[in-house]
Amino acid sequence: MTDDSKATDIATQCIHAGDTVDPATGAVMPPIVTSSTYRQTEFGAPMTYAYSRAANPTRDALERCVAELEGGERGVAYAAGMAATAGVLDLLDAGAHVVAPQDLYGGTLRLFNEVRTRSAKLRFTYVDFADLDAVAAAIRPQTRLIWLETPTNPLLKLIDLAAVVEIAKAKDVMVAVDNTFCTPCGQRPLELGCDIVMHSTTKYLGGHSDVIGGLNIVADAAVGAELVSLRSAVGSVPGPFDAYLVLRGIKTLALRMAKHAENAQVLAEWLQAQDAVERVYFPGLASHPGHGLAKRQMDNFGGMLAFELNGDVARFMSALRIFAVAESLGGVESLAGHPATMSHSNIPQAEREAMGIPDHLVRLSVGIEHVDDLQTDLETALAAAGRNDRSP
Ligand SMILES: *Cc1c(COP(=O)(O)O)cnc(C)c1O
Repeated sequence: MTDDSKATDIATQCIHAGDTVDPATGAVMPPIVTSSTYRQTEFGAPMTYAYSRAANPTRDALERCVAELEGGERGVAYAAGMAATAGVLDLLDAGAHVVAPQDLYGGTLRLFNEVRTRSAKLRFTYVDFADLDAVAAAIRPQTRLIWLETPTNPLLKLIDLAAVVEIAKAKDVMVAVDNTFCTPCGQRPLELGCDIVMHSTTKYLGGHSDVIGGLNIVADAAVGAELVSLRSAVGSVPGPFDAYLVLRGIKTLALRMAKHAENAQVLAEWLQAQDAVERVYFPGLASHPGHGLAKRQMDNFGGMLAFELNGDVARFMSALRIFAVAESLGGVESLAGHPATMSHSNIPQAEREAMGIPDHLVRLSVGIEHVDDLQTDLETALAAAGRNDRSP
C-alpha cells in the first residue's frame, strides 16, 4: 500500500495495512518463514535478514500492519503481552521511577513489584488517575515513565489520556498505554500524544484464543529501534507461526470489535435492569462515571463488562452454558470470570475489597455469539443464583 492507505477507514486498514502481500509470489497472505538463518547473497554485503531472533519476514509483516493500525512509526512483536511490557521497562535505567494506577492487569503488577523492583531497582508509585493533581505530584526527578490501562480491569475505569499526556510532556516523562481492552478499533493512544502502545495479542488482536503474543507500537522510530535491539538481546520474540496467527486474526478485527461492543451494550443495559444484579460496570452506560470521557476518547465501548451479583456466585457460574468460566478475554467466545478467585486471587481480600473488587463481582468477556442466546444464558444463571440475604 502507498501512504494514501493511512487515510482509509480502520476496517479497511485491518485487511490491508502493512503491505503484507508477498512480493516474490503475490501470495495475499505472507508466507510463514520458519528459517532461523539466511544465506548471504554476497560475502560481507549487508542483509535485511540474517538470523530470526533479530528479524523474521513473517514477524515483520505483523509489525508493519499494527504500526499502521495504531498510527505509529514502528511495531515490535513479542512472545507474550508480558514480554512486551518487560521490553518497555528495559528502556529504563536501574533506579528509574514509574507512576501507574493501582488498577492494573495482575501480571503487570507482579512484573513491577516482584521482579523489576528487585532486579532493576525500578521504583513504582501508584496513584488514582482520576485525580490529575495527584498524578502531577507523584512525578519525581527520576520519573521516566507513566504506565496506564484504560478502561481498567475489572472495573472499567476511564483515564483521560490527553490530560495525562499534558502533565507528562511538561516533565519529559514517557506515557505507555496497555491498549489490550480497546484495540486500535476502539482507541488510538498515539494520536492523543502517548509514546508507546502495548498489546497482549493473546486477546482481541489474535481473537480466537489460540495464541499467546504481545506487541509494542511506538510514535518515535528511534525508540522502536531501541526496543528491537533490546528484544534481540533478551530473545523475547514470537515464533513465525504465532506472528502469522495474530496477523490472520487482525483481518477480522473491525468486524469482531463492532459485534463485541454491540453485544456488550445490549447485555449491560439488560443486566442493569435485573433485580439479581446490584451494579453494572460498562463505559457504554450513561450511569458509568467515565461515560462522557469514553464517548470522547473511544470509538466504541468495547466488549468487557463487570457486575455485582446479588446472589450466589458459585451457583451462577455453574449454571452458565454458553459463557465458559475461564481466564482471559477477547476471543470470539463469551467468557465469565470471577476476579476474587481468578484474575485477582493473589491480592489479599481486604486489599481487594479496598480496590472495589468484592467477592460478588463477575467479569464478562462478551463474545460474538447471537446476543439473544447470551442473554438467555445469563437469565438462566441469574435465576439459579437466587437472591442472597445481602439484599435489603
Ligand atoms: C492478558 C493481558 C496482559 C498480559 O498478556 P499475556 O499475553 O498473557 O502475556 C496484559 N495486559 C492486559 C490488559 C491483559 O489482558
